[in-house]
Order: sequence, then C-alpha cells, then structure tokens
Amino acid sequence: MPQINDNAKTTAAQCRHYAMCKIDYLATGLCPSGPEKHFVTYYPQGRMDLYRGLAEGRIPVTEALLDAADTCTLCGICDPQCHFVTGMQPTAVMRALKDYVEAYRREKGDVVRPAEDEALRKLREIVGPDWASNDPAVLWTYADDPFPLSGPQMPRYVVLPDSREEISAVVRLANELGLPYAIRGNGGSVFGFVFSDGLVLDMNRMRKIEFDLANWCAAVEPGVTSFELQQEACRRGLRINAAEPAATVCGNIVCTGTFSTWSNVYGTAADNFVDMEFVGRDGRVFRLNDKQSPNHFAFAHQVLPSPGICTKAFVKLHPATDDEEGLLVPFAGFDEAVRFARELGQRRIGLALAVLGGHYVATFLSPDEELSGKLKAALPEALGVEAMVFAVADRYGRDAIRKMAPAVIDSSLLRLLMLGLPRLVEPRWLDLVREYEGRARPFELLCRPDMRPVVEAVLRPSPETISEAVPESLRPFYRELYARPEMTDMVWLNMHRIVSARMSRRKHMFAFLVYAPPDRLDVIHEILDGFARVAKTHGIDHDFGFLTPLDFGKRAILEYDYYLDHTDPAEREKIARAMPELDPWLDELAARIPGVLSLKYVFSQGCSRKENFLYRV
Ligand code: SF4
Repeated sequence: MPQINDNAKTTAAQCRHYAMCKIDYLATGLCPSGPEKHFVTYYPQGRMDLYRGLAEGRIPVTEALLDAADTCTLCGICDPQCHFVTGMQPTAVMRALKDYVEAYRREKGDVVRPAEDEALRKLREIVGPDWASNDPAVLWTYADDPFPLSGPQMPRYVVLPDSREEISAVVRLANELGLPYAIRGNGGSVFGFVFSDGLVLDMNRMRKIEFDLANWCAAVEPGVTSFELQQEACRRGLRINAAEPAATVCGNIVCTGTFSTWSNVYGTAADNFVDMEFVGRDGRVFRLNDKQSPNHFAFAHQVLPSPGICTKAFVKLHPATDDEEGLLVPFAGFDEAVRFARELGQRRIGLALAVLGGHYVATFLSPDEELSGKLKAALPEALGVEAMVFAVADRYGRDAIRKMAPAVIDSSLLRLLMLGLPRLVEPRWLDLVREYEGRARPFELLCRPDMRPVVEAVLRPSPETISEAVPESLRPFYRELYARPEMTDMVWLNMHRIVSARMSRRKHMFAFLVYAPPDRLDVIHEILDGFARVAKTHGIDHDFGFLTPLDFGKRAILEYDYYLDHTDPAEREKIARAMPELDPWLDELAARIPGVLSLKYVFSQGCSRKENFLYRV
C-alpha cells in the first residue's frame, strides 16, 4: 500500500462540507471537473473525502477514484476558495491523492470495478448511463459529514436526475424496490440528514433559473444555489432573500424556510416563494397552490418528514434601490443593541437587520483566524463595543439611523477598517484609542468624521495591508481580491453571504436557532444563559451568533453556536452529552413563552406560513 501523507490526511478530515468549492463565489472559476461530472466526487470537497477514505481504510481504490484523481489538474483554484472561508489550502491534499494513485499504479494494485446490478441498470435506464453509480468511492463521498452525532452511512447507489419526470420515475422505482432514499442539495446538511443506506439523489444537474419579471418571481430548479440565484437577480437590479451561498434554494426553503438578516423585511418560510412544485412520496407531482394538495402551509409542532422532493421553487424577487448602504452601529451593551434593532424593525427603518456579537463581527471582517481572534478581543477591551447592529438602509433609512444612534460606522469607514485591519488590532494603535477614554467612548471617537484622516493615516488601509494577514503564497490573490469594491461592500457581502461561511473556520459549528420575542429581554437572556450554561458544563466553545427582528420587531430569530473539532472523539463526546440537556430545556421554554420555538420543529416544514409557528391562537 502506498504511504499516506499525515498532513494531507489531517487537512482532508477537517473539510467542513460547506461546498463553497462548488460555487464560483470569488470569480476564480470552478474546479474544472466538477461542472462536467457533477458528482461531488469530482469537486475538491469530494476529493478531500476520497483521501480521508483511503487514509482511514474505508474505501478501496476504484475506477471512479482513479478518474477523480486523474481529472484533478492541480490548478490550485481550490486553495483561495477554501482558504477564504476555512483557512485551509486543499491543493496539498489533491497532490497527495494523485501521488497515492500514482504509487498504487506503480505497485500494480487491484482496482475495484463494481458490477452493474439490476437496480442500477433500471436507475441508468431512467437517468442515463453516466448519472447513476454504485462505485464505492463515489458512494463514500455521499456517506458522511462533520455532524458529530452520527457515523458514516454508505448508500447503495447515487443518482443524478435531470428533470422532474426523472425524479418521479426514480421515486417510483425506489418504492417498487423498497429502497429508502435521501435528497442531497449541495454540500451535506452538516446535521447528518442527507444520508441513506439506499439511494441518494443529488440535484446538481438541475440548475435552470427562469425569471418572470412581470410576476416578480424566478422559477428555480433544485440544484441552483443561493449564490447563483442572487447573482442572477442582482444582474437584473433585483434581490432574493438568500440562504447560505452554497445551499440550494429549494433545499433551504424546504428544510428550514429561508431566514437571513433580510428576513426583517422579507420574512421567512412561505413569505419567500409564490409557489413550490414537488414530487410526492408516491411519485406524483403536485404544486402547493393547488386546492387539492396537502396543506403544507400549516405547521405542526412536531418533527415531520418533508412534503416530498422539491422540483421547482417560484422564488419571490424584491426590488433594490441604488442608494442602499450598509451600516454598523456599535453599542457598549447587548441590551441596548437589541432594543435598537427592535425599534428599527418596529418603525420599518432599514432592510437587512441584525444584532451581531463581537465574535461574528470579527470573524466576518477577518480573512485570517488569528487576526479575527485579536479583533474579537479588541472590540470590548479597547473599543468598548459589546454588540453591533448591522443594517442595510437607503438614504432615508440612513438619515433616520444617524439621528437615532450616537455613533455609526458607515460603509466608507468600514472599508478603511477592513482594509487596515492588521494595524487596527496593533497594541500601539489600540493604546492610542484607549487614551481618549473619559472624553468619549472609544468607538464614538472612531466614528467621528474629524477622526477619519487620523484613522486613515494610522491604518494605511489598502488591499496590500489586509493581505499581510494571510500566508505569503496567497497574498497576490488576496491583494487582487480586496481591490474589488464588492469585497468591502456590506450590501453585496450581506446579499451573497460569502463571509458568513467563515463561522466554521475555527472549528466545525453547531448552530442552534430559536425564534423568540425581542421585546422580552428577560427571555432573550434566559436563552443565551441556557446555551452558555450547558456549554460551560461540558467544556464546549460557544458564542452568541446573531439576532434578527421579524414581523415589525414582534418576533426575532436568534442563533447561538457551539464549536467543536469534529475529528476529535473527546469533543464529539461533549456535544453528545450536551444535546440531551438542551432539548427539554428549550421545549419547556417554548411551552411557557409565546413566540419561543426551536428551529428544529420547523425543519422540513419550511413551506409553512411563519404566522403558524411564530404565533399561537
Ligand atoms: S487543484 Fe484539483 S481539486 Fe483543486 S480546483 Fe484544481 S482541479 Fe479541482
């Protein structure tokens, strides 16, 4: 057996399955083999899994494994793509995979060529010979994700349909053969939901988008990602309420109902679409708006299966104006920030809206984990910032926010801070800011227009300065990247959500989402304290994520995150002990307080009306 490279093995095991290598979010182009072959096996994410599978002895060398290794051109595109969000550089793994295969061929090792059985023959009859596989290497890339509470689950087949009719035929066949099946969007669910020991349907080939501007909607097939749809909407001067960039639009709506900072104005769940088309469990096609269809707009407070396989979503499009800008409003206390965000929601000021803690702000702004850690510490210690309210607003909204808030970081100041970040966190500069304490709060000083020349002189913000934070080999790429205006534009970044994937950079993230009434600060604190208490009991890294008001500030969605190294059995054990404590506590809270609901119950009911789970009558 050829040697395994330990560094490559460690990197491969850390793949977060965020699928950011499957969308061209940095305009670098995509891994060349991915869009041609479509199986995740032929994207960097799949090759990371292949190397891990070989290293752990979970898969043999197969025909598809050789092909996946051979079709990697070592172009290096996956390095910046992966580094931007995770800090990793996967090309070393790709090289190790190719080296392994080369050595294996030299040693004349056996290559597994799985035979076509009857089920596979029938699947291929439906989708075509290239789009169904039982190759163990292919199956392995659909068998696992970083979810710490379940082990790998190998499917027997993976199939990539290309139309609603093919999906319907595959479902009927699966029923006939008694094969369980799971539907995969783009990455993995990172919650262990997209696995099956039968059949996995990957929607990667179904990527059509049709705009119907007269009806303010786009018909979207199930392989289309949020990033891709947002890009197309932007080209037409429009916007969608977007999920995580690499998440598929249909998958996201069905699973949790899309929510984002834009949910302040665009809502969530059924607010986001005009209609949805499904293939039901019996293989029949139905639309949600048909009178005869089952009522998936209703909500039941229990964990339910999805309505079926979504084959098309008619997603709402929203108009955008050309005077929108992002603002950050810093606050010395969390409660002040929540009150402010709620008031903006109540008064309908601004569009996207969220309360962010220091952890999110630091992670979003920093292209490097060490820099992020320094900024996170500096925000409260040196700048006096405990939380920030992020808002996108037009010029009228911005005027109102400026009148309401003592200090505002506008888009031009944010650009200076982002591009000068390595200097902003230098002790020399932070001491200087601290010296002003007493006269004004440090962050108020930073936001003063007359301080702008000083900030600029000290930080020397530029693409070169921010690039100092990343490894030498990637600096030329980052210099070019940060010279692009959208990389420091809060509106663009927030619409395309490319920096939010950085949340898992330090460790795999376990996100808990809870709906809550933001006027009840006591309840908000009970939720935050509860998550913190359980995390501390079990020694789990944890932090507040964000809070976004909904429905005129009457409700909010709150995220609290646990962080763990999913490759470390001790860390997996910690989360396994913590989970049984969280569920009953959240259920009790939800029973006691109207408006509190764990997103866990909305799962698979993302097509329901938000009123049906945010309110009780
Ligand atoms: S180095 Fe290989 S895996 Fe990475 S993007 Fe290029 S071809 Fe794809």
